[in-house]
Amino acid sequence: MFELVSAAPADPILGLTEAFKEDTRTQKINLGVGIYKNEDGQTPVLNVVKKAEAKLLESESSKSYLSIEGNAQYGLAVQKLLFGADSDIVSSGRALTAQSPGGTGALHNAAEFAVNHLGIKTIWVSNPTWANHGNVFKAMGLEVKQYEYYNANTKSLDYPAMLSSLEQVAKGDLVLLHGCCHNPTGIDPDAAQWKELANISADKGWLPLFDFAYQGFATGIEEDALGLREFAKNHSELMIASSFSKNFGLYNERVGAFTLVAKTPEVAKQAFSQVKAGIRANYSNPPSHGAAVVSIILNDEALTQEWHQEVADMRVRIKEMRDLFVKTLKDEGAKGDYSFIQGQNGMFSFSGLSKEQVASLKSDFAVYIVGSGRISVAGMTKNNMLALCQAIVAVEN
Ligand code: PLP
Repeated sequence: MFELVSAAPADPILGLTEAFKEDTRTQKINLGVGIYKNEDGQTPVLNVVKKAEAKLLESESSKSYLSIEGNAQYGLAVQKLLFGADSDIVSSGRALTAQSPGGTGALHNAAEFAVNHLGIKTIWVSNPTWANHGNVFKAMGLEVKQYEYYNANTKSLDYPAMLSSLEQVAKGDLVLLHGCCHNPTGIDPDAAQWKELANISADKGWLPLFDFAYQGFATGIEEDALGLREFAKNHSELMIASSFSKNFGLYNERVGAFTLVAKTPEVAKQAFSQVKAGIRANYSNPPSHGAAVVSIILNDEALTQEWHQEVADMRVRIKEMRDLFVKTLKDEGAKGDYSFIQGQNGMFSFSGLSKEQVASLKSDFAVYIVGSGRISVAGMTKNNMLALCQAIVAVEN
């Protein structure tokens, strides 16, 4: 039977990494996948993670199974990151959290719960959005519809179009929002827009699902939760998929969390029992290591401070690369005005490069960028900047 199965297309982002690895040219640059690289082009383990791992090695006494929802201390720490340490959502027990295999696993948990237990059929995602959103939601049988988000002419958020397309959202539909550092555009709503969106959502009865994969990469750990916290003020029900792949550099440990907020602690428990039943049937219980590391850090004040500093260092380096990228393009005589890139948040820059230009960058200059023109700024260094900008200027012509 297997020979009747047609081959799946390569994943647009991970497939690019494969092609990059196979490229034998020595001067090659990978700005595809969203992985932070330091000034030496490395993705090192954070110092604070190394410290927590040393502690874990000392203290870990068993490799017995975790519970279905995972490490409880981790779950509580995740809730405090999301809503603030003093939030009554945390203290009241209205929120319950399942440790999940990465943010992707958490998105899957959310979609499964929404489809199987809320009878939801439709999810709205921004146009554009992270390429894997469609895969996860379609795999769970959801119809994926798009709301407007990006204006390619102004290279900014098309807020009026966003609001007008969101008018089609029916009561009870899922609406996916990027907590911060929108992937791929790097453009987030401002504080007033978040407030208005939260009000509209509460009025219309949407079920918001926040995808929070870059907390700390825009302005700061607390500041970046502004949009979510605005929604949490006037929604009795919402869901959050957290990923700690980027902000703890724990990519291959698969650390995420699915959090459900309900009207009361009792309702939360009842609904969450079905989330747990779904997990049991899927992967039974989560892998331990990565979340144990995050939990050690977030439950220790000194380590938390150190983590904040390491996230700030990553954030500042990326911002510096944005500035240098724009400056170098200008110095090299780029025709286009790329200054908009300095105002974007997070790892990515939506460059406005066309599909043809992206293809030429790959074939002629060994510069790997996702077809949409999304560039991982986190992959830029002072060493690869000149070659990168010269290549872009060359394909502009
Ligand atoms: N959501 C967004 C917007 C992302 O960019 C990513 C990773 O790139 C994820 C979720 C998934 O993260 P993870 O690797 O933890 O599954």
